[in-house]
Amino acid sequence: MTRNLFVTPLYEAMLDEDDLLEELAYSIRVLAEDDTAGRDWSAAKGYKGYTSYASLNDLPQRDPAFADLKRILTRHARAFAKELAWDVKPKLDSLWVNLMKPGAHHSAHIHPHSILSGTLYVEVPGKAGAIRFEDPRHSQMMAAPMRDDDAPEHLRPYVSVDPKPGMLLLWESFLRHEVMPHRGRGERLSISFNFA
Ligand code: FE
Repeated sequence: MTRNLFVTPLYEAMLDEDDLLEELAYSIRVLAEDDTAGRDWSAAKGYKGYTSYASLNDLPQRDPAFADLKRILTRHARAFAKELAWDVKPKLDSLWVNLMKPGAHHSAHIHPHSILSGTLYVEVPGKAGAIRFEDPRHSQMMAAPMRDDDAPEHLRPYVSVDPKPGMLLLWESFLRHEVMPHRGRGERLSISFNFA
C-alpha cells in the first residue's frame, strides 16, 4: 500500500454569476483607462497590459461589484480553509485586477505575507495563457528521476490549468505559479487576491 503524504490542494469552483462577471469586466477596463499610476507602473515593469497590483488597494470600497466579489471570495476561502483542516477564518488582504494583452505573460512567483492566494478569470480569449503550478519541492529533489510524460496529475512536476470565464482557483500562497504567454487575440481579464 502507498499513501500520499503532504498533498498540495488546488481549489477550483465555477462562479455562476454572469452579471457580476460583466460588471467586473467593465470595471477592469475603466481602471485600465483611468488609473494613471497603475498604467505607469505596468509600463515601467514591461507588463503588456495593465495591473492595479501596485497602485490601488481599496477596490471593494470604491466599487460595489468588487464588494460583491469580496463576499463570494471570502465564502470560498473559508470553505477551502475547512478542507485544509485550518482552524482560522481567512480574511481578504489584497485584491488587484489584471488586463493582459496578446504576448503578455507573468513569470513564476509566490505570494508572500499571505496564507491563501487565488485568481478569478473574468474574460479569457482563445489561446490566452494557462496558469502553470510547480511542485514546491523542486529545490529538494536532488537526483530525482524525470517523470513519464503520462504520469498521473498528482505526480507531475508542473500542472497547467486552462482558465475559463467564471473559474475561481485558490491555493496555498507558497505554491509557485506562472502565467504562460497569451498567444490569442483580445484581452485576458482576471482578478487576483491574497487572504491573510
Ligand atoms: Fe500570482
